[in-house]
Amino acid sequence: MDFQLTEKEEAFRDEVRAFLDENLPEGASRTPELMQAWTRKVREKRWVGFSWPREVGGGGGSIMEQVILKDEMARRKAPALGSCFMGLAWVGPAIIQYGTEEQKQKYIPDILDGKYQWCTGYSEPDSGSDLASLKCRAERVGDEYVVNGQKIWTSIAMWSKMMILLVRTDASVASKHDGITCLLVEMDTPGIEVRPIKNMSGGAMFAEVFFDDVRVPVENRLGAEGEGWRVTISALASERSSIAEVHGLVRKIEEVKELAKGTVRGGRRMSDDPGIRRRIAQAETRIEAMRLNGMRFLTKQLRGEPLGAETSINKLHRAELEVGLGELALEILGSAGTLMGGEEPTVDGGSWARFSLNWPEVVIGGGTPNIQRNIIAERILGLPKD
Ligand SMILES: Cc1cc2nc3c(=O)[nH]c(=O)nc-3n(C[C@H](O)[C@H](O)[C@H](O)COP(=O)(O)OP(=O)(O)OC[C@H]3O[C@@H](n4cnc5c(N)ncnc54)[C@H](O)[C@@H]3O)c2cc1C
Repeated sequence: MDFQLTEKEEAFRDEVRAFLDENLPEGASRTPELMQAWTRKVREKRWVGFSWPREVGGGGGSIMEQVILKDEMARRKAPALGSCFMGLAWVGPAIIQYGTEEQKQKYIPDILDGKYQWCTGYSEPDSGSDLASLKCRAERVGDEYVVNGQKIWTSIAMWSKMMILLVRTDASVASKHDGITCLLVEMDTPGIEVRPIKNMSGGAMFAEVFFDDVRVPVENRLGAEGEGWRVTISALASERSSIAEVHGLVRKIEEVKELAKGTVRGGRRMSDDPGIRRRIAQAETRIEAMRLNGMRFLTKQLRGEPLGAETSINKLHRAELEVGLGELALEILGSAGTLMGGEEPTVDGGSWARFSLNWPEVVIGGGTPNIQRNIIAERILGLPKD
C-alpha cells in the first residue's frame, strides 16, 4: 500500500499543523481558560465528531483525514477532542445509526458541545465478558418501559445526566443475544440509585446503579425492541488503525528511557543495567509490531474492507504494553516509584505510581486480554472454541 498523501490530504495536514501552531497552548501554559477557548475553536472547526456525517454536525472526515488529524494531535500532545467521552465514542455513533430524527436532534448537538456526560449501563454483577447474559429487565407497560435490576462498574455514573442502558425485554428467546433492548435513560428518573465504588487507587470513578420500577418512555428506546445487541455493536465507518495509540506508547517508552538514564541505584545508572535494557528493547520491538499492524489495518480500511477480529491483536499488544511499561518504570525507580505524594518527596510528582495503577481502564475496558486471545484463536487462527 502506498501511504503517500494526496495533494488534498497534504493540504489538510498543513491546515491541521497551522491550526495547532496558532491555537493549541503549549504544555505548561494550558490553563482552564485557554483550554476552554481551544475546545470552542475545535468545535467550530468540526473536529469534534470529525468522522460523523456533516448532516448531523460532524466533520465528514475521510478515513485518511482522520488518521492525519489524530496523528498530528498525538504528536503535539493535544487533549482529546470534545469532552463527552462516551457520547462521542459510542452513544453518538449508535444514535446516528439507529436513532429517530427526534433523538438525533435532541442528543447529538449536546454530545458535540459536551453539554453533559453520558454513562454506559452494560455490565452487571454476573455479566461482564459474557455481556449477552444480562438480566436487568424491562417490561413494557403502555407507553413506558418499567426497569428493575442492577448494573455495576458504571464509569462516571455520579456525574452523568444520561445513560445508555441495556435491558432484557424478552427472556424466552432461544439465543441470549436476542431479547435485549437499548434505552436512553435520564439519570434523575425516580427509582435510580447510584452507589459509588472506590477503585484500587482510592478514587471513586465508577458506581453500582440500581433500578427499582424506573419508568422510561418508549420514545427513549434506541432501535427496535429486542435489537439492543445490534445497536451496541454498531460502528460508523471510523478510523480504527490504532496508529494514534502507537504514538502514545512511543512517547511513554521515550519517557521510560529518560527515567532509566536519570536514575542511579547501587552506584549504577539504570540505563546501563542489562536486564532493564533488554526489557526496553522488547517493549520497543512490540510497539513497532503494533505500528506495522496498524498500517495493515489502515490499508484494509482505505480499500473499503471492514475491520473485524484483527483489531484484537493491537488491543492485546496495547494492554500488555501499558502494564509492562508501568512495571518497568517501578522496577527502575525501586520503592521510590510507589510514592504518590503527601508527606514524602515523589519522583515526577507520583506520576509513575499513578500510571501503574491506571491499567484496568485499558486492559479490562472493551474486553479483557483473555477475551482478545479467544477472538484471535477462534476467528483468526481458526482454533476450536474452548
Ligand atoms: C476502569 C473500568 C471501567 C469500566 N467502565 C464500565 C462502564 O462504564 N460500563 C460498563 O457497563 N462496564 C464497565 N466496566 C466493566 C467491564 O466492561 C467489565 O469489567 C469487563 O467486561 C469484564 O467483565 P467482568 O468484570 O464481569 O469480568 P469477568 O467477565 O467475570 O471476567 C473475569 C476473568 O475471567 C476471564 N474470562 C471471562 N470469560 C472468559 C472466557 N470465555 N475465556 C477465558 N477467560 C475468560 C476474564 O478475562 C477475567 O480475567 C469497566 C471496567 C473497568 C475496569
